[in-house]
Amino acid sequence: MTDDRIPFHRPSITEAEKEAVLAVLDSGWLTTGARVREFEQAFAAFVGARHAVALNSGTAALHLALVGLGVGEGDEVIVPTYTFASCGEAALYCGARPVLVDVDADLLTIDPGCAEAAVTERTRVLMPVHFAGLSADMPAITRLATRHELAVVEDAAHAFPTRVAVSGGKLAGTFGAAGAYSFYATKTITTGEGGMLVTDDDHLADLVRQLSLHGISRDAWKRYAADGSWYYEVLRTGFKDNMTDVAAALGLAQLRRVDEMRDARARIAAQYLDALEPLSARLQLPATGKPGEHAWHLFVVRLRTDKPLGDAAADEHLRALRAAAIEHLSAAGIGTSVHFIPLHRHPLYRGMGWRPEQFPVAERAYAGAISLPIFPDMTEGHVDRVGRALAAALA
Ligand SMILES: *Cc1c(COP(=O)(O)O)cnc(C)c1O
Repeated sequence: MTDDRIPFHRPSITEAEKEAVLAVLDSGWLTTGARVREFEQAFAAFVGARHAVALNSGTAALHLALVGLGVGEGDEVIVPTYTFASCGEAALYCGARPVLVDVDADLLTIDPGCAEAAVTERTRVLMPVHFAGLSADMPAITRLATRHELAVVEDAAHAFPTRVAVSGGKLAGTFGAAGAYSFYATKTITTGEGGMLVTDDDHLADLVRQLSLHGISRDAWKRYAADGSWYYEVLRTGFKDNMTDVAAALGLAQLRRVDEMRDARARIAAQYLDALEPLSARLQLPATGKPGEHAWHLFVVRLRTDKPLGDAAADEHLRALRAAAIEHLSAAGIGTSVHFIPLHRHPLYRGMGWRPEQFPVAERAYAGAISLPIFPDMTEGHVDRVGRALAAALA
């Protein structure tokens, strides 16, 4: 750190990443090629999926999963409201309707009961989000999907890597028809921008690969290689969502360091949990899971109130306290964020008729949530400083 400000996030980049990227720049091949294939194979092996398709964002992975599953006009996709724009957007891109549902009060992941109540004749897909890096209730979601013949597309943008309890160690992102990971700059491994779709379905993997590159017949990326041909055919309306070899080289180097970075995040989370325990009357600390069950992409604390859920005035009061706490932390040189402004609060979704009263748990969570800095290069001194500043902010 060049000054004593603690940023909300800082990517962990070593000489290995720099050398890997420079090697690609020197190679004469910058776009989708051998490094992308290598990254896909290494990623698929790591998560234990048959296929991984590298894309230019996690959003693209969610979108192409839906297109690949045939989601279209008139269909509905059930999405937790407590998530990032990508989830609703992926459905809207397909002409489908995102159906927002409330979340579980502890995990802040999709509430299976609310999801079940939202199922209609038109529902095609359930899209759980593994919030902060802890898995959604996949056994309940899988049962629900089976009962209503729905596909599951997991938003695993926060969950790399996350072991799921009660599954014999399967990783989050490998339960559904497809899983989508993000390598955005703040995620647990990064390619600057990037994403990965994983699936065990051979047909879906082929289709998504094709869709990611203009709907062009399969090995089109080879057409400029020595053994490639100039000929290609456009088979369907595709998109331009492929990953570059520059990004993949960065991703491969990050993937080799994933255990080390995950351990660092877990260490920081444990230190936070200790340091903030004395504040637990004022502050709800995040759910934890057993070792390996939390990727600790985010460390989200929530200001508490005794008022019942659905009390809009209490939520408003909490939002004011939260804003003051964030300002206090900022003045102390500490960067924070808020995850999430629920989808139903954004003008786009308000315009579709969604109202805060429909989502009492998400409303309460949003009102009090503060995401504290957590990144592999944070020191014990940093965590200590954040803890003390937060205590002072709440005093
Ligand atoms: C980051 C994120 C995404 C999308 O990631 P991009 O790679 O930026 O497109 C999707 N869902 C959630 C919950 C995220 O946090």
